[in-house]
Amino acid sequence: MVQAIVVEKPEETQTVALKEIELPPLGEGEVAVDVAYSTLNYKDALAITGAGPVVRSFPMVPGIDCSGIVAESNHPGFAKGDRVVLNGWGVGEKHWGGLAGRAHLKGDWLVKLPEGISLRQAMAIGTAGYTAMLCVMALEAHGVTPDKGEVVVTGATGGVGSVATALLGKLDYTVAAVTGRPEEEAYLKSLGASSIVARDEVSGKARPLNKERWAGAVDVVGGEVLANVLSMMAYRGTVAACGLAGSMSLPTSVAPFILRNVTLAGVDSVMCPLEDRVEAWRRLAADLDMDKLAAMEMEVALEDVIATAPKFLEGKVRGRIVVPVAPE
Ligand code: NAP
Repeated sequence: MVQAIVVEKPEETQTVALKEIELPPLGEGEVAVDVAYSTLNYKDALAITGAGPVVRSFPMVPGIDCSGIVAESNHPGFAKGDRVVLNGWGVGEKHWGGLAGRAHLKGDWLVKLPEGISLRQAMAIGTAGYTAMLCVMALEAHGVTPDKGEVVVTGATGGVGSVATALLGKLDYTVAAVTGRPEEEAYLKSLGASSIVARDEVSGKARPLNKERWAGAVDVVGGEVLANVLSMMAYRGTVAACGLAGSMSLPTSVAPFILRNVTLAGVDSVMCPLEDRVEAWRRLAADLDMDKLAAMEMEVALEDVIATAPKFLEGKVRGRIVVPVAPE
């Protein structure tokens, strides 16, 4: 038996509780991971609160991320004792996830943790941080180098935004951080932001084009904020769009694309191919300042996860949350 957060839907409304559960037998190609740390992401908050249709089958153990030690392996690529990290692949949505003492996961989904990242740091990074790295890699792939001009990060105090700000700052970009929390200016500047942009400056109905401001952007908000950012991109700029913290919609026009040659680069972490994940984790080990990571994390015990989840939906979480399950 293992302790796990379990989401059930016996009738119309879902229930969620911390309980003891029995995992199904370890399947072909699967790996049993003793979870050392998990985390809470925006998507986990949707799953736990039921505020978004994240959970596809019930009962479900949420948790799209975990880091831990291989306890048993039916996969040739992994052996007992390996340090591994899991992000996405529908885990915590369709497959039992990481907010549990142990997880049975497909070996094909796992990444061996690079030297230089501890099991705890892996979850301080989590899907939010690994997605931030994918966004930075998308900007690089589209030729956004530090000399091209300022880059902007929206939802900057959140998980993706905080890690993106730290990564871009370390890589010598000049970073403008968009936030609805002006009181977090010192925090954002300590991560690597050069300037703070009030959320109001990129809110409201977007004009097709605005004054050119940014060479690159990482957007976690969507909706009118993304539309405004698109209208303010410099000629040949690129926006890496990964989130919908504000809205799923995109009320824009074709003007930024056909008149300014702007690229809207979509970023998905869930089904991202293994080779790109391995590269993203390698880059995180190389390019993320671990002192800055420590400054953006807070700890929430497994027992307190359910009570903490709604804070995401209120936009009250700063940085990243680490959930110690069986700490090193
Ligand atoms: P988070 O920690 O809650 O951060 C979201 C941030 O967005 C908030 O901290 C807030 O920042 C800003 N925000 C919240 N509500 C807003 C609103 N109504 N209008 C404008 N800004 C708002 O969440 P996260 O973990 O960073 O995730 C961010 C988004 O990325 C989520 O939509 C998540 O689902 C998505 N995501 C996608 C992928 C993928 O694979 N594509 C992976 C990870 C995350 P400020 O207070 O600083 O403004």
